[in-house]
Amino acid sequence: MHSLWNDREAAALGDDLLAQRVYTSQLLGREPSLVLHGGGNTSVKTRVRNILGDEEDILYIKGSGWDLATISAAGFAPTRLRTLQRLAMLPSLSDSDMMRELKAACTNPAAPTPSVEAILHAIMPARFVDHTHADAVVAISNSPDGEAILRDIYGERVLLLPYVMPGFVLAQQVYAATRDIDWQQLDGIVLLHHGVFTFHEDAKTCYENMVALVDRAEQYLQRRGIWSCARQGQYCAQDDDVLALARMRQQAAALHGKPLLARWDLSAGAVGYSALDNIADIATRGPVTPDHTLHTKRTAMVVSDKTGEAVTQFAAQYHDYFTRHDNGKLTCLDAAPRVGVWPGCGMLYFAPNAKRLQVVQDIASHTRRAVQWGEALGGWQALPEKDIFELEYWELEQAKLKSSAGTPALEGKVALVTGAASGIGRACVDALVREGACVVALDINAAVTSLFPAITVLGLMCDVTDTQQLRSAVQQAVVHFGGIDLLVSNAGIFPPSTPVAALSDAALDSSLKLNFSSHLALLRECIPFLQLGCDPAVVMVASKNVPAPGPGAAAYSCAKAALTQLVRVAALELGQHGIRINAVHPNAVFDTGIWDDATLQARAAAYGLTVDAYKTNNVLRREVTSAQVASAVVALCGSSFACTTGAQLPVDGGNERVI
Ligand SMILES: [Zn+2]
Repeated sequence: MHSLWNDREAAALGDDLLAQRVYTSQLLGREPSLVLHGGGNTSVKTRVRNILGDEEDILYIKGSGWDLATISAAGFAPTRLRTLQRLAMLPSLSDSDMMRELKAACTNPAAPTPSVEAILHAIMPARFVDHTHADAVVAISNSPDGEAILRDIYGERVLLLPYVMPGFVLAQQVYAATRDIDWQQLDGIVLLHHGVFTFHEDAKTCYENMVALVDRAEQYLQRRGIWSCARQGQYCAQDDDVLALARMRQQAAALHGKPLLARWDLSAGAVGYSALDNIADIATRGPVTPDHTLHTKRTAMVVSDKTGEAVTQFAAQYHDYFTRHDNGKLTCLDAAPRVGVWPGCGMLYFAPNAKRLQVVQDIASHTRRAVQWGEALGGWQALPEKDIFELEYWELEQAKLKSSAGTPALEGKVALVTGAASGIGRACVDALVREGACVVALDINAAVTSLFPAITVLGLMCDVTDTQQLRSAVQQAVVHFGGIDLLVSNAGIFPPSTPVAALSDAALDSSLKLNFSSHLALLRECIPFLQLGCDPAVVMVASKNVPAPGPGAAAYSCAKAALTQLVRVAALELGQHGIRINAVHPNAVFDTGIWDDATLQARAAAYGLTVDAYKTNNVLRREVTSAQVASAVVALCGSSFACTTGAQLPVDGGNERVI
């Protein structure tokens, strides 16, 4: 591990201690093997003059929920140092009392809640304090001779402390252990099974001491020849594997009580790990550090077959674990797995939304490396499950998870949208993402791969008239997000106006292929997954031309009429599986790829209208936009239309021939 300190960047911060604190916190956050997603915390002690002119010693401590990689000054809570130091002297302090006192000691009511480690930071007599959960150090401590190895690596200048719960108990432990110690003689403190603390008057030294301590642990793993011991492997997903994944996701969602996303990790590292001989054993020994349990649960689910039975077994084991440690006052959390190992086939992740899914995936990838280090050092050992349980059910940690009040309507759901790079399709992707869904966006235009936020949208180039490409895209969708709940079949073209007498076979075929057959093929490929989906719904984007055709558009109108008839037949067939399917009939949507200014002016002129009058040439005199159509599509996907199937909804501003 190397220092990322940059003299030029640091010079720009001047003497501003909080700016320095932000800077080195971000440096720590940039290294995922030090801290992952909200892990770790940092602080700086400084003296400030308050509005009354009094000077106060203030501890700026990382706010709960902030991520070191992206933290700003607003992410630090200014708390009264003396108050925190006095709290450390109390013989005992309950969690709720501690949190109340931490908030009360904060001088800015708008600041985030101080980290639960605020008291510990306060009693360390150095201006800067850095705390990480460094993989290498924690992994070594999770092996049979871990403590001895760490003592060997660090000698006398690092204090090693056994694991205790974070929060007040940890602050007390450190206070007692350091009461007679000369802090000048210490470079850091290692908390076994938890992490590392460094402290110094100077931001750079504090940060570089952390890097140096972690580097020594990493060097040790290199000297032992196990630094790169993680096994690699390869597996090619089969059709029935992908269905099994969707089935497991359905069962996990049932346990969770809400839709869940799932992901199948087929990376070389995940497959290699899953192929280890004793994978079922090592994947169920426990996490790298108890903190991870909140995202990953204590153990991984071990997949034994393609029936989904593993989810039921995991839930039974989770309930047993809860019963073993429950004091009678706790409520059992949902028993759905968050991580799974599929022996020889890779790893599985489950989470309520895309951000959390990424967190689970990142933690799992660091965990499998640490577990293999632990194995190479004589056998991976996690903390006893009692300690893990205590943290998993710690009220302060539970509060962190609940803070996301008001989840969006489509959270945890997966939508597949075609023709997604422009117009109505693109607007549908945006609208579905806004409602909390994850989207697989297909388009023949390669731009679709980079148009949308990567964490919530998987953009895939796909020619929907090629059934093989469709099949592959559907599989990729399920591998990436776990299933398909919503299908918005939108891709289409509007061929040049041609009277029937002049319509060529080729022009008719090409319209039928894209505007009708491709939708049928896509629906057919998705049905097995929709059957396993959460409140599944399909919306076909048809056209006003179905109820109110115009001359010259036979190829287009006939294809859209066939598509509408498909909706009616499919509604009858799929209703028994709870799958709803409806059509929207948009008209005169001009903000799409097929309309440019010249075409618009020519069409308007043909009707003897200005462009504006042409755009609003409907009963409501209102322009119909892609966003309006998307809004109707999303509504049809949602619970407002839970009792509607086989319906046709006009989105045309009102058309006299339709009304
Ligand atoms: Zn920690």
